[in-house]
Amino acid sequence: MTYKKPNPNKTYLITGAAGFIGYYLSRNLLEKGCRVVGIDNMNDYYDVRLKEKRLELLSDYDEFTFLKVDISDKQALDEVFEKYQPEIVVNLAAQAGVRYSITNPDAYIHSNLIGFYNILECCRHSYDEGNTAVEHLLYASSSSVYGANRKTPYSVEDKTDDPVSLYAATKKSNELLARSYSHLYNIPATGLRFFTVYGPMGRPDMAYYGFTQKIFAGEPIKIFNHGDMKRDFTYVDDIVGSMERMLNQPPPADEHGVPHKVYNIGNSHPEQLMYFIETLEKALSKAAGREIVAKKEFLPMQPGDVYATFADTEPLEKAFGFKPSTSIEDGLQRFADWYCEYYDVK
Ligand code: NAD
Repeated sequence: MTYKKPNPNKTYLITGAAGFIGYYLSRNLLEKGCRVVGIDNMNDYYDVRLKEKRLELLSDYDEFTFLKVDISDKQALDEVFEKYQPEIVVNLAAQAGVRYSITNPDAYIHSNLIGFYNILECCRHSYDEGNTAVEHLLYASSSSVYGANRKTPYSVEDKTDDPVSLYAATKKSNELLARSYSHLYNIPATGLRFFTVYGPMGRPDMAYYGFTQKIFAGEPIKIFNHGDMKRDFTYVDDIVGSMERMLNQPPPADEHGVPHKVYNIGNSHPEQLMYFIETLEKALSKAAGREIVAKKEFLPMQPGDVYATFADTEPLEKAFGFKPSTSIEDGLQRFADWYCEYYDVK
């Protein structure tokens, strides 16, 4: 299947560009000669040095512009849209994390609701006279919108009206807001339900990264629901590979005349948490050149957590001829090799 490759004559605005997925997407587009304007508020939810490192790597490309902007600052965002007139907008900026949303709801309302509303408003006003109209808005949603205890695999046709965390509620709200903006103002928009993304230079707040830090510190790793959990772990290159195919293919209007569509982007191959940990131990052992076994502490299920995630990716395959396929053995080895080199651990 052929697909419309990213177009070097267009400007891609990527919010959350210093973040994990934002960095990889920006790099992919820059490698293809595209102009990328990246914005990020550089918050300290996790180690800012990692965000700075990603930006440092992106600054090697002439076509990369970085602006420290918070998407909840409407005036600053207006200025970015006015100055750079992006044709493609990818909103990845958000307060991520399910557990953190239990104790820090403000951050989610601020970035995921007000910030996203501002993005939508800027897209809408790009249609005003004199501006280049946004041709496609892509935005990050999440597998968390599926809530708990659902039949698997998760299909985009499933009902998603009982989010079990505030994080999930904000992501579902994004989908609803985007749909109504698509409907009212004809803004082509695609929502991306990402499933547990991992890889080198990933997020320290996520389990695989936190486990690795604890393992090297000689501390026990906390395994919730006594290890009885399944996750559709998705390697970051597969996320970017999917997005690359979607960027220049805005959805056509659906049967209601609305150019809005939501896709699952996941590996569609859920793994038991205990197998994931075993694979991580093997990968770290190989990378560090010695046998590594994690100390394990088994705990009950945490509020906001779900038992299993499993993406039905048939619509993604049908529409774009792409299926995430990196095995956790390969993906975790790449993470482990990067980790040991970055932190100089042996
Ligand atoms: P990340 O935290 O590494 O990246 C998000 C970036 O956005 C960060 O660099 C942060 O500084 C920035 N940001 C946050 N609030 C902002 C604001 N108000 N204004 C400007 N910048 C802001 O996370 P990620 O893993 O790269 O995730 C990217 C997107 O994908 C997020 O929307 C996240 O919710 C979603 N998502 C990620 C996963 C995953 O497993 N990584 C899964 C599902 C959904």
